Amino acid sequence: MSDHDVDLFVIGAGSGGVRAARIASSYGARVMIAEEYRVGGTCVIRGCVPKKLLVYASRFSGEFEDTAGYGWTVPEPTFHWPALIANVGREVTRLEAAYTTTLERYNVALVKSRAVLEDAHTVRLASGARVHAETILISTGAWPHYGPKIPGIEHAMSSNEAFQLKDLPQRIVIQGGGYIAVEFACIFAGLGSQVTLVYRGENILRGFDDDIREHLRNEMRGRGITVTCGHTVAAIERTGEEFVTRLSDGTTIAADKVMFAIGRRPNIMGLGIENLNVRIHEHGGIAVDEYSRTSVPNIYAVGDVTNRVNLTPVAIREGHAFADTVYGGKPTAVDHSNVPTAVFSEPELGVIGLTEHQARERLDKVDIYKTSFRPMKATLSGRATRVFMKLVVDGSTDRVVGCHIAGPDAGELIQVLGIAVTMGATKADFDATLAVHPTAAEELVTMREKAVSYGRAAAE
Ligand code: NDP
Repeated sequence: MSDHDVDLFVIGAGSGGVRAARIASSYGARVMIAEEYRVGGTCVIRGCVPKKLLVYASRFSGEFEDTAGYGWTVPEPTFHWPALIANVGREVTRLEAAYTTTLERYNVALVKSRAVLEDAHTVRLASGARVHAETILISTGAWPHYGPKIPGIEHAMSSNEAFQLKDLPQRIVIQGGGYIAVEFACIFAGLGSQVTLVYRGENILRGFDDDIREHLRNEMRGRGITVTCGHTVAAIERTGEEFVTRLSDGTTIAADKVMFAIGRRPNIMGLGIENLNVRIHEHGGIAVDEYSRTSVPNIYAVGDVTNRVNLTPVAIREGHAFADTVYGGKPTAVDHSNVPTAVFSEPELGVIGLTEHQARERLDKVDIYKTSFRPMKATLSGRATRVFMKLVVDGSTDRVVGCHIAGPDAGELIQVLGIAVTMGATKADFDATLAVHPTAAEELVTMREKAVSYGRAAAE
């Protein structure tokens, strides 16, 4: 037994911190966790969970529209934003309580306070009390940033505030082309707002497969979202109740709200680590090794604060691996390759592994299979939408190294497909799998024609 107050002090009770705390405790460690805001962190309080509930809400409008072709007559539906927000708030509160109960059940001491490091073993709480810990885990997450200061930036909100809006904006300008901008553009459009997405690059979702990016942009435009690429927001001016956004090309757009979703920065400010030789990576996150250990041997960091792969399940895996490594006698490094991910846009995206571009850069031979088709449901509803699927195959080994889906339930599909891809399934394994008919997913096992093949050897 060490002579510290606790074995482990965790700063930040989000996805990574909570998982690390309870697993460490289950191995017998004395654990304390500090949270200055609400237990649950970004995912539960202002991220994945409330966002997904808004996504569900936003999709009903399309469902109502689709009913007519199936023989239904539905009275003109109306939507009440305050009711949705109140219900989402209640669910978040329920989950926060569940997280808190979990910590109690695992004998983790929770302190609702900001915690700052005084030295490598001492944490100071807001009350001035000090706690001495053998090991410290930093899991403080990340926070939206607003980029270079532009005139009127104080009028912009982030996705954090979207969950608190009193009314649904009739018109909204969203800057950014990543997960949050795209998801919220689709949410607001589905709920009835007029949405303009402003993205600085050539096409939204940089880093995703180019075909998927193009497909989604077209689908979003087809749903009435104005997607403006190659521009940034240069200024925001308030005129009465509305905001006029001026873009870099001088165009102006009037709206009720302006949202910036241009990335999030690791929460490292004011943590006290600046005096402790905790190395900060050039990408702005706390630098860690494969066991999430920082440059100070008894200080670890997991989740978005390390700016590795900023996704909830990754933070959870990192937190768990940390506890296994330090308290479970099972050194566990987290593999950050092959992370399945979903964008809850409309249509949804589900992705795992290499894009076509990455595969061509890394592999000697690449085979691409792709298909685009009208989903069966759209036949009677008349909805103008298509599903897109693409398999990226290593032509030398036949392994499926990438899978990219745009269509209904793509997130669910990629979770299951992720098992096959993680296990190293080959295209022949896919082909050997019997189809389930009629489904959209059957296309994944019935694609036979290569769309294109690349080969370094062939080119030489
Ligand atoms: P992202 O990093 O995904 O996207 C940021 C976007 O903002 C990019 O399009 C980027 O452009 C653009 N951008 C960055 N700086 C500027 C600038 N100064 N001016 C104009 N545009 C700029 O961040 P998000 O905020 O969308 O999401 C934050 C994190 O949350 C992500 O890392 C993601 O992992 C996570 N998340 C995951 C979700 C999910 O799993 N479904 C949902 C929501 C969030 P460019 O591409 O040119 O760099």
